[in-house]
Amino acid sequence: MGAATGWRLAARGAQVVCFDRHSPPHSLGSSHGESRITRTAYFEGPWYVPLLQETFPLWRELEADTGTELLTLTGALMIGSPSAEAVTGALAAAADYGLDVRLLKADEVRRTYPAHIVGNRDVAVLDAQAGFVRPEAAVDAMIGRIEALGGEIRRGVAVSAVNHRPDGVEVVSEEARETFDAVVIAAGPWMHELVDWLPLTVERQVLVWFALAKNGASPLTPGRFPVFIRQADGIGDVYGFPTLDGASVKIARHHAGDATDPQHVRREVSDGELDPLRRYVRTRLRGVTQRVIRTVTCMYTNTPDGHFAIGLHPEDARVTVISACSGHGFKFAPVIGDIAADLACEGHTARDISHFSLTRFLEPEG
Ligand SMILES: Cc1cc2nc3c(=O)[nH]c(=O)nc-3n(C[C@H](O)[C@H](O)[C@H](O)COP(=O)(O)OP(=O)(O)OC[C@H]3O[C@@H](n4cnc5c(N)ncnc54)[C@H](O)[C@@H]3O)c2cc1C
Repeated sequence: MGAATGWRLAARGAQVVCFDRHSPPHSLGSSHGESRITRTAYFEGPWYVPLLQETFPLWRELEADTGTELLTLTGALMIGSPSAEAVTGALAAAADYGLDVRLLKADEVRRTYPAHIVGNRDVAVLDAQAGFVRPEAAVDAMIGRIEALGGEIRRGVAVSAVNHRPDGVEVVSEEARETFDAVVIAAGPWMHELVDWLPLTVERQVLVWFALAKNGASPLTPGRFPVFIRQADGIGDVYGFPTLDGASVKIARHHAGDATDPQHVRREVSDGELDPLRRYVRTRLRGVTQRVIRTVTCMYTNTPDGHFAIGLHPEDARVTVISACSGHGFKFAPVIGDIAADLACEGHTARDISHFSLTRFLEPEG
């Protein structure tokens, strides 16, 4: 979110300085692990749809400006019972905005996407404007644009305080105290260090790559296998991607992790964490073995209601605060960066961010 903000600010001519305690792109926060789902028929709330529609041309602009491949369109399948939230919510968002989706019955899922093992009562919504973005390459490309447009990246510099001074906003790091006209705080899982009044919780997540079976042509390639989210009985929400290396696929559970401290994340993955996913590939996927090739841990920073927290600091309109995670923020990075640039430069944005209000969690006074 910080890199996206810097990119969109630099693109409109602002002088930008970005601080990062690590050296992005890195694998210590939330923006790593090869791929992130993007989609448009957003079951989490139809108000996300106009924001999502803005992201696709922005990803293409970033690709063109940096000569990198960031966005791959594969379509997305939301699989579950007809009453699953992923199914009904995607259909509702599609109806509100006239989106290109199709509802597939079990037979059609089996015929068209034979890698998915579905029950007779299962259905799937196919969202056409969907696929995946590559997080490390995207962060790198955004940083590349910031630097190309004259901005500065301070790597390995942790900000210890943001102070509200009459002459500007003071950023304190171990290197210096510097004053800026405006500051955007997007510290991901470390947000509580700089903004302690948001009720955020940090959740450890596990990503697992399973080996593909070696029996002939795989139907799990990006051209034939859409990204998917499945709301499955007994295991919760599982999502996955087509193979990017021809040898493995990445599968994960959504919101199945423990609370963690971003400075002390357990990086080893236990059998207890792998077993539900092994069971998933054994019972719900064809062409995938239970052999684990690689695991990665990552962090969600969750708000209590699962929607983002984006807005001006309630006590200082020169400071913008962004927590756009809750496990689904990456796809929005270009438009959230642009919203943050609006807020930092103009003090307001024309986009509807009313669902992301920072103050919705605060107790009313009196
Ligand atoms: C396993 C996993 C799967 C996901 N899948 C999807 C998906 O499929 N689709 C999707 O849209 N989203 C997905 N998400 C969510 C998405 O990745 C996040 O919303 C997004 O990465 C959040 O980015 P961020 O900038 O807020 O946090 P981060 O990427 O963690 O960035 C925060 C940065 O702030 C720096 N920092 C922190 N404190 C300080 C400080 N005091 N001073 C200086 N620098 C500091 C850190 O070093 C870090 O670089 C997933 C997340 C995870 C973990």
